[in-house]
Amino acid sequence: GRRPLIAGNWKLNLDHLQSIAFVQKLAWSLQDAKLDFRTVEVAVFPPFTDLRSVQSLIVSDHFPITFGAQDVSEHDSGAYTGEISGAFLKALECTYAIVGHSERRSYHHETSELVGAKAAAAIRHGLVPVICVGETAEDLEARGASAVPVEQLETALAGLPKGSDIVVAYEPVWAIGSGQAATPEQAENVAAQLRAVVGTALGEEAGAATRILYGGSVKSGNIASFLREPNVDGALVGGASLVVDEFAKIARFQ
Ligand code: 13P
Repeated sequence: GRRPLIAGNWKLNLDHLQSIAFVQKLAWSLQDAKLDFRTVEVAVFPPFTDLRSVQSLIVSDHFPITFGAQDVSEHDSGAYTGEISGAFLKALECTYAIVGHSERRSYHHETSELVGAKAAAAIRHGLVPVICVGETAEDLEARGASAVPVEQLETALAGLPKGSDIVVAYEPVWAIGSGQAATPEQAENVAAQLRAVVGTALGEEAGAATRILYGGSVKSGNIASFLREPNVDGALVGGASLVVDEFAKIARFQ
C-alpha cells in the first residue's frame, strides 16, 4: 500500500530561527500523540534559508519527519543567479522538492515544460519531485476540473525516466487559501485520472505506487474525508501547516 503523506508547504513564512522552534514543537506534539509513523509520513517544506537549520535539528534529534524544498532549479550549476541546485538540496538531505506550485506558475510564469525540466533535475539528484497541478476557476468553468491538470501532468512527465519516484499534488487553484476546499469526490475523480497519466507515462508499477496528494484549504476538520478516497494518498497543506497543533491534528487524521 501507499503510505499517506501529510506535507506542510510553509510558502514564504518562518525564518530559520522560527523554523527550529516550529519543527521542535511539531515533533514533540507528534511524539506525545504517539503518532505511528509507519502509517503516515509527515514532511515540512520550509524556505531555502531554513533548510540547513531544519536538517541539523531533524538529524541530531532523530525526528521521524522528512523535509524538502519549495522549488529547485532545472540547472545543476553555472551562471544562474538566484537559483538553487538539486545537488545542494540533496547535500542538505532533502527528500523532496516541490515543482510547479500554482503560485510559481502564476507569479513566475512557469510552464509545464519548465516544471518537467525541474522534476527531471530533482530526479537526477536523487530527490523526489512533488509535482503540483491544478485548474483555475476559469479553467473549471471552461473545461471542467480534470482537463488542465491532466495536460499539465502529461507535459511535466514527458521527459522523465520510466519508473521514476515522484509525488503528485492536485491543487485546484480556486481552493488554495480560499477556505473553499474541493469535495472529496471532486478530488478523487481528478486523482484517479492523474494516476492513469502516471501509469501511461512512467509505467503501471509507478502508477500504482505514486502518492497523489490533495491540496487546497485542507484542515483538521476535512482531512479524514479526503484520505478515505482510494486515490488520494495525503495532503499538501498551506495555511494550516503553519499552526503546530493544527498541523499535528491533520497528521493524526485516522
Ligand atoms: P492552503 O492550504 O493555504 O489552501 O494552501 C494549499 C497550498 O497551496 C499548498 O501547497
